[in-house]
Amino acid sequence: MNRANDAKLLGALQQALGDQLVLTGGRIPAKAMSDRSRTGHHLPMIYIRPRSVQDVSSALRICNAHRSSVVVQGGMTGLAGGANPECEDVVIAMDLFAGVEEIDSNAATMTVRAGTILEDAQKAAEDSGFLLPIDLGARGSCQIGGNLATNAGGVRVINHGMTRDNVLGLEAVLADGTVISSLNRMQKNNTGYDLKQLFIGSEGTLGIITRAVLKLKSLPACRATALCGLRSYEDVLLLLRNAGKLMGLSAFELMWGAFFRFSSKAEEFRAFETEYPFLIIIEQSGEAVNLEEFLATMFEEGLIADALIAKSEKEREKFWKVREGLSLGTLPKLIEYDVSLPIGSLDLYAQEVTTALAAEFPSIHVSVFGHIADSNIHLCVSAGQVDAAEKHRINTIVYDGVRNHRGSISAEHGIGLLKREYLSYSRNPEELNLMRRLKKTLDPHGILNPERIICIAPTDRSGCSNGHAHPQR
Ligand SMILES: Cc1cc2nc3c(=O)[nH]c(=O)nc-3n(C[C@H](O)[C@H](O)[C@H](O)COP(=O)(O)OP(=O)(O)OC[C@H]3O[C@@H](n4cnc5c(N)ncnc54)[C@H](O)[C@@H]3O)c2cc1C
Repeated sequence: MNRANDAKLLGALQQALGDQLVLTGGRIPAKAMSDRSRTGHHLPMIYIRPRSVQDVSSALRICNAHRSSVVVQGGMTGLAGGANPECEDVVIAMDLFAGVEEIDSNAATMTVRAGTILEDAQKAAEDSGFLLPIDLGARGSCQIGGNLATNAGGVRVINHGMTRDNVLGLEAVLADGTVISSLNRMQKNNTGYDLKQLFIGSEGTLGIITRAVLKLKSLPACRATALCGLRSYEDVLLLLRNAGKLMGLSAFELMWGAFFRFSSKAEEFRAFETEYPFLIIIEQSGEAVNLEEFLATMFEEGLIADALIAKSEKEREKFWKVREGLSLGTLPKLIEYDVSLPIGSLDLYAQEVTTALAAEFPSIHVSVFGHIADSNIHLCVSAGQVDAAEKHRINTIVYDGVRNHRGSISAEHGIGLLKREYLSYSRNPEELNLMRRLKKTLDPHGILNPERIICIAPTDRSGCSNGHAHPQR
């Protein structure tokens, strides 16, 4: 952008939305700089806080006419750098467009605005006697729009699927301001292309999500949670296969020994006298639970070496606190990976990558845990002060292993800016080409979350002030 065009853009936005919703300079909050990957370093020139779908539409129409690039921000808990303003002129932050619009108890659906904090939507569902199946550790800050844009996973996927499996209808605004309102509330609707799926998981590159109709489930009457110590990965797989027969299995989370030692020490939690190489949190919820009997049988069969059943909500929360592993955030320069691989290969992959990383970076710390039933593990790598070339080498070791096992470089967090150069490790050239064609069709000027997931053309980053680059014209 040049200065004359900047002033025209700002003037047009202020005229359409009013001064209160269009912020510049010192009025832009510092949180706009980076998501939870902590890799963002720039503030945008203009920060817009729409209060309505019409505001989003007007803002995009004006930005598109000025060929000004836009980045969408939800709760900024993303871990792929996708919401970080890198070279964009404008941020559209969705926090003011929040609130549950309707809960239909007969149909068991919730119509919700994109800026609603996930936990607020969960509480609204509970107050009406329902469970909102979408749940993740960042529930207190992430927004429904961000969850949809990233197709978030979490700990309930085992029972209810990913975010995309819990959506009936969606409303989104295209780059040119067109509102696509597809707020379907039917369980069944086979009237042509399922347009909502274009926007779910596309990380704000094809449109800004403004509202959604989500599925609700019955609130479980009871719940039981246990922490188990196991001796081998084979036992973990056998236990999971057996647990599949339990009614209402609602979580099966694996922690490798090194992760558990680190996190339980930080949480001052001592579970067992013996150290086990694998620790499982298993949870059952529903009308009735029989977890205790199941674990007793598994113990007799020798699959479980030790088990602790939560006697109180406080104890259950402690198990989950250890599993959430927030203390890992204290490790210097933590890099978090969210890969998925065929479940039978997960332990072998973890061993191979840990060994390969330690061979090149002797002081490296690697912790592994994850949603094993979904074939998804998180690798948390701290190598201290590494330069860009060393970081690239670490990424390559982690993703080479994924490619060798024919896995996916992102199970949950998405591609954003941080994984873009590795997308071809998991997607073939024809798939990438179709993604580019879709992007060009929906956003011909490339203004929306440019360069997230894929590049559609080389970008000139040299000619923009404040690090801002020109979108494709
Ligand atoms: C402690 C912690 C635990 C986490 N646990 C999980 C987990 O278990 N599973 C999981 O999947 N993720 C997890 N995450 C990652 C993160 O919380 C999710 O990716 C979440 O869905 C992001 O939501 P957000 O509102 O914060 O989005 P943001 O970080 O603001 O944005 C994420 C992406 O979505 C785009 N976007 C945001 N809102 C919209 C919108 N309305 N329309 C279009 N595009 C939009 C942004 O441009 C960006 O590309 C975790 C993160 C933390 C910090």
